[in-house]
Amino acid sequence: MSLPACIAIDGPAASGKSTIGNQIAEKIGYLYFDTGVMYRAITWMAWQRDASYDDEAVVTGLAESVLIDVRPPSVEDGRDYDVLVEGKDITWEIRQPEVDANVSVVSAYRGVRAALTAQQRRIGQRGQVVMVGRDIGTVVLPEAELKIYLDASPEVRARRRYEERLERGEEADLEMILENMRRRDKIDSTREVAPLRAAEDAVVIDTDDLTIEEVVAEIERLIRQFE
Ligand code: C5P
Repeated sequence: MSLPACIAIDGPAASGKSTIGNQIAEKIGYLYFDTGVMYRAITWMAWQRDASYDDEAVVTGLAESVLIDVRPPSVEDGRDYDVLVEGKDITWEIRQPEVDANVSVVSAYRGVRAALTAQQRRIGQRGQVVMVGRDIGTVVLPEAELKIYLDASPEVRARRRYEERLERGEEADLEMILENMRRRDKIDSTREVAPLRAAEDAVVIDTDDLTIEEVVAEIERLIRQFE
């Protein structure tokens, strides 16, 4: 048997999806694709254009018309990839608190999801991809041979985000991050379209007491079962 063509990794914010997905992809020579970047890019565009996040028609129009480009990293500043929109590098802009606070509203719109899911599926169908998000195993690539759902408590996840921000030399408030994360979890998991949840055939890994290395090793073990 060969390796799974697609590996889907889902889970809430700061459950370790990005770091772990990226490391797995590197180890097996697959493309790493972080779908959260696309929802963040549309949120950032709405912000730049002074559009109201509540204006579903305008926000959906952006998702349907803006080309989001994700490429290998061009700068060595800790990034895993470049995110470009209309030629502008927005890799770090999309990590700002303003985007964190509003991305869940934007990503709950049916039209936004339809536009972005279609792009994600096209990338997934080429195979050899580790795709990371909230609905990859359930909606984007339900045919993925290996589905992982990473979980962790809100407190542990908030602390991870807090430390990431401090490491980047940014200001951070742990309580605010935790509150924001709880709000985002709630919207993501209760929305009508493609809510955050583990696929029935996903392997659920609770990462509260595990290091990144331990989670990566467990996923590698699951991948090797296909060989
Ligand atoms: O993973 P990340 O925190 O960057 O995702 C940002 C937001 O994008 C999530 O809180 C969620 O609202 C949305 N998202 C989504 N579906 C995905 C990936 C992200 O709804 N597949």
